[in-house]
Amino acid sequence: MESFSFYENNILKNTISSMIVKNRVVNSFLIYGEKGLGKKTAADYISAAFLCEKGNGVPCGECKSCRMILHKTHPDVIYALPSGKSGNYKIDTLREIVENAPIMPNEGKYKIYIIADMDNTLVPAQNALLKLIEEPPDHCVIILTAQSRSALLPTIISRVVSLSVHEVSSGSCEKALAQYGYKSEDIKKAIEILGGNIGKCKSYLDGESIVDAVTITKNITDSIISADEYLMLKEFSELIGDKPMTLLVLNLLCEVIRDAMSANAGCDEKILIGTYKNGAVKLAKHISKAKARKIYLVITKYIERINSNGNLSLAINSLCSEIKEIM
Ligand SMILES: [Zn+2]
Repeated sequence: MESFSFYENNILKNTISSMIVKNRVVNSFLIYGEKGLGKKTAADYISAAFLCEKGNGVPCGECKSCRMILHKTHPDVIYALPSGKSGNYKIDTLREIVENAPIMPNEGKYKIYIIADMDNTLVPAQNALLKLIEEPPDHCVIILTAQSRSALLPTIISRVVSLSVHEVSSGSCEKALAQYGYKSEDIKKAIEILGGNIGKCKSYLDGESIVDAVTITKNITDSIISADEYLMLKEFSELIGDKPMTLLVLNLLCEVIRDAMSANAGCDEKILIGTYKNGAVKLAKHISKAKARKIYLVITKYIERINSNGNLSLAINSLCSEIKEIM
C-alpha cells in the first residue's frame, strides 16, 4: 500500500475505503491542502482504491490495475493537461472531458478524471465543468485538487466531497524521503525547517526552493542594511501564501543575523555559518549588536507563531513592522 507513497492521512483513506466497501460511492472529490502535501499522490491513491482488483477499498499496489496506476499507464485514469505557463485549464480541455465522460471505461469499473492544481482556473472554465460535476455518469469519478477550497466556485464546492491532506509525522516524512536516496542528516535538517511536508522537503533537498529562499534572504538582509523599508516589505510579501518558504527564509535570516552578531563581537569571518556571510559582515557594520539581537528575537518569535499555525500574512506584516521599528 505504501507503494503509493501516500502516508498517514487516515481520515481521507478511511472515507474512501468505507465508501467503496459499503458500495456508496461519491463521484466528485476535491483534495485540498498546501503545496507539497501530496494532493496528486492522494488522487492516484483514490483512483487505485476505486480500480484495485481486490476491491476492498485499499489499493493493494500489486494487481495489474494498481501497477498501471503507479506507472501512470492506466487507460481509465485520465489526467487533464493544463496549458501554458500559467497552469490554467482551457475551457476546451474541460469541455472535452465533459463530452467524453459518458463513454464507458476501457478496463475497469470506473473512468477517473484527475484535474490537478485548479487554483488558477478561471470562472468560465470552472463553469464548463459544472455540468459533469452536477450529473456525473455512474462510471465516472472526478478528482479535483487545489491548494485552497476558495479557488473553486461555491457551486462546485457544494457538489464535491472535500478531503484535506495533512503534514505527516517526522517518521513517515523520513521514510518517504529516504526512498529518493537523500542522506539521512540532510533529511533531518529539511524536516526540522519544513516539517512533515514531503513535497516541500523534497524540493528543498533538490535545491529548488532553497535557491529562491536564499535570494529572498539576501534581499531582506540588504534591505535591513540599507534601511530600505519598501524593499523589505516587497521581499516579505513574496512569502505570503507559502508557509514552508517563509519558515525557510526566516531560518536562513536568523543564521545571517546570528553571523552579524558574531561579526560584531569580533569573531573571525571563517566561523560564520549562514548562507550570506558578506551580508552578515556588512550588516554588522550598519546595526549595533543590540539591534541585531532584537531583530533575531523578533524573528524567532514569529517562527514560533507561524509554526503554531497563526495567520501567515498577518504574521508577515507585523514581523515586517516590528523589524522596521528596530531599524
Ligand atoms: Zn490492486
